[in-house]
Amino acid sequence: MVRYLSHYKGPYRIFTVSKSKEMTEQLLAAGLTVGEISEDTLTILPDNIAVTIASEEKARFSVFAEGDVVEINERGILYRWYSVVEGDAGIATTSHCNSNCIMCPASESERRLANNISLPQLDTVLKHMPKDLWYFTVTGGEPTLIGEDKFLHVMRSVKRELPHTRILLLTNGRTLGDRDFFAKFAQTRPNHLRIAIPIHGSTAQKHDYITQAPGGFRQTMRGISNILHAHIELELRIVVSKLNCDDVTNIAKLIIRHFPTTTVVNFVGLEMRGNCVANADQVLISYQDAFQKSKEAIRLLIHHGIDVGLYNFPYCMIDEEYWPIAQKSISAYKSMFYDACEQCRLRHECCGIFLATMNFYKPKVYPITSGDQYDKLL
Ligand code: SF4
Repeated sequence: MVRYLSHYKGPYRIFTVSKSKEMTEQLLAAGLTVGEISEDTLTILPDNIAVTIASEEKARFSVFAEGDVVEINERGILYRWYSVVEGDAGIATTSHCNSNCIMCPASESERRLANNISLPQLDTVLKHMPKDLWYFTVTGGEPTLIGEDKFLHVMRSVKRELPHTRILLLTNGRTLGDRDFFAKFAQTRPNHLRIAIPIHGSTAQKHDYITQAPGGFRQTMRGISNILHAHIELELRIVVSKLNCDDVTNIAKLIIRHFPTTTVVNFVGLEMRGNCVANADQVLISYQDAFQKSKEAIRLLIHHGIDVGLYNFPYCMIDEEYWPIAQKSISAYKSMFYDACEQCRLRHECCGIFLATMNFYKPKVYPITSGDQYDKLL
């Protein structure tokens, strides 16, 4: 989420928002930079840089809550790293990726940009995160492509600054297939780590066609084996598209046979932006059809003791028996609802529909109004 403060002429800073003198004193005593917000002024402390919030900027600025972690650059552009209201937080180490998945919500041009996080920036962000933070995500692009030394620095910093937080590393798993790299990673990894990796096909041919990265399937399989041998919590993801919907059951069988100690498999609905839009004729499938094609795979995985989740599937597009495994997986700023959703009894539990998907096509919704149906979720 980006905001703008037109009168700001100061230096780049990362700060924690305070709206009271007591909070400001506590944060300063902890060695943190503070952005104290009063009626019409932002004061950055201890630098003591005061800037007026213009009257037309006040409404947009009011979204910042006490405890939010915010960055401001020399041009007055603000970026929120952590929202107290949303709860979780994360970093993208780089936009770069060594795969180019046909249905990726990032575009090929975004993928080519390195856009790496600087290590001082990372360390400052982490220092400002609340110590009782529940979740923190490390992602990319492909996060390991920031470079071996820098990636290991990220892992060490996360481990040091957030020792009690659940860390989710989102990766394509290819780099983790390298034995030497993995050995170093295993020594630096954070305490409460889960690694999430997508499998796009049950064979090298199918997986590598979707990732457009020949040889990637073997590397990813080795990465997954390394993770399980090191007893690190593993989440596998299956992004269900028109290209792999008839292979989903085979992917589940592969997981059951070769990776039975996987903690959870999440089935992921498409986000229609980037490559996914460019290749819509090849990949687009409705959420209803993607779910129906996944049912046998879900049944098999659960039968073999592997937890299953559904990401990005609104309740009204899946069978009622599967409501308990549907997750509110879309960040609030990316999630949209129709006016009709306001009558739906699951409006506040529902993930909604991606804003980008809504812009591309308008999936039909079926508001859930009957009490019986609602009770099945509880
Ligand atoms: S009608 Fe709207 S709120 Fe209800 S389940 Fe469907 S998408 Fe979600």
